[in-house]
Amino acid sequence: MVAYWFRRDLRLKDNHALFSALSESSQVLPVFIFDESILRKLPKADRRVDFIHRRLSELDAYLRAKGYGGILVLYGDVEKCWKDIDEAYDLEGVYCNRDYEPNAIDRDFRVEEILRGKGAYLKSFKDQVIFEESDILKSDGTPYTIYTPYKKQWLKHFDESLAEGYPSEKSLKNLIGKQVPEIPSLEALGFESTDLIEPPMEINEGFIKDYDEVRNFPALDRTSRLSVALRFGTVSVRSLIRRARVLNETWLSELIWREFFMMIMSHFPESSHEEFKQKYSQIQWRNDEAEFALWCAGKTGYELVDAGMRELNETGFMHNRVRMVVASFLVKHLLIDWRWGERYFAEKLLDYDLSANVGNWQWAAGTGCDAAPYFRVFNPYTQAEKFDKKREYIKRWVVEVDTPLYPEPMVDHKEGRERALRIYKEGLASYE
Ligand code: FAD
Repeated sequence: MVAYWFRRDLRLKDNHALFSALSESSQVLPVFIFDESILRKLPKADRRVDFIHRRLSELDAYLRAKGYGGILVLYGDVEKCWKDIDEAYDLEGVYCNRDYEPNAIDRDFRVEEILRGKGAYLKSFKDQVIFEESDILKSDGTPYTIYTPYKKQWLKHFDESLAEGYPSEKSLKNLIGKQVPEIPSLEALGFESTDLIEPPMEINEGFIKDYDEVRNFPALDRTSRLSVALRFGTVSVRSLIRRARVLNETWLSELIWREFFMMIMSHFPESSHEEFKQKYSQIQWRNDEAEFALWCAGKTGYELVDAGMRELNETGFMHNRVRMVVASFLVKHLLIDWRWGERYFAEKLLDYDLSANVGNWQWAAGTGCDAAPYFRVFNPYTQAEKFDKKREYIKRWVVEVDTPLYPEPMVDHKEGRERALRIYKEGLASYE
């Protein structure tokens, strides 16, 4: 018997590792482990835990209804869980899809050691991306750190066969979940159900066709919203790339940004907490806690910033254009360390992904591999004027905006901009 380990790939369809497990064994035990070291740190009402639990319950119910048994869902220390599973089922091996985050790589290494000690193997597969880690390198064998030449190579290396599906859904009869207990309830895991609004799980082709015209206007809300499905693997990236190639090149470029940042994280794991460009490591952040609290709460007195932060707090989502504006405001106008913003987004975003979040925060701070130049300071007023002219998005999220209750701007734009430029310059000079 072998096990298939669900992680960031909560689907039965077109799933590479699941397909391989089902092709190589007629007895495949599907497993999911709620990692107590991650869950312990989360609040009781966490939309992501709720989301994962809902998807697992659906998959489990589907499999049980088809007579394939259920999914073995455990909660605990991952290494201990694998020891227990192996003892109960005497596994030949475990199949999973690769995860490129530093902590996940360490975890997989430790699980592999345990399995090896018991005479079993861990086989991992590429599933989250078309090109991973070192699939695309510069001619001197080093990774690309600038997006545009990387994208050019991505397109050059791409061929249709790389986006073909793995028809895992056709061999589900080889699953053996018959004896597994029911999935623990959310409450049994120490959590409660949330106000989660179900994000889309499928591509809206109309949105993608018009993407170039509509993507920058938060009030329209017409981006794909597939970031959550991509984050948890409820949709296959190969199926999206196939559609993107036909429907819209700009949208395809966004999916390539996602792969670019994953590739960067796998080569430069230290960039999860250090400036990618070390010369920016001496910036004297002000890190004023009271100001940070106002930013988090969406009470800065800058309408677009406040609307974005409130959308984030209330739904777990924020439109990309607004993410750029709030991030720039935090690091430049308030001179608060990008890591503080990154952590706050990590707590709140439903689509939180370490590589994309760090990559974009470092982009906004000017410290990243292919970042906005440090002297580019978004002007929140002109951004609002350009992308939310009728203030529809602002009014949707900041209901008191036109009343005396709405605060004055916490910092003057011109002064904030000049202070940021000065502090960045000093930081650069002190590094030299
Ligand atoms: P669409 O516009 O429809 O794009 C399609 C897909 O392409 C997205 O779902 C996403 O997977 C990918 N994508 C798009 N833009 C980017 C980008 N700039 N970088 C990487 N991938 C991209 N995205 C995350 O998935 N997780 C994060 O934690 C995250 N944090 C961010 C933090 C900041 C400060 C900023 C500026 C951006 C961040 N992004 C993050 C990128 C982007 O904002 C979201 O992917 C996007 O808003 C999700 O909406 P969508 O699915 O409708 O995107």
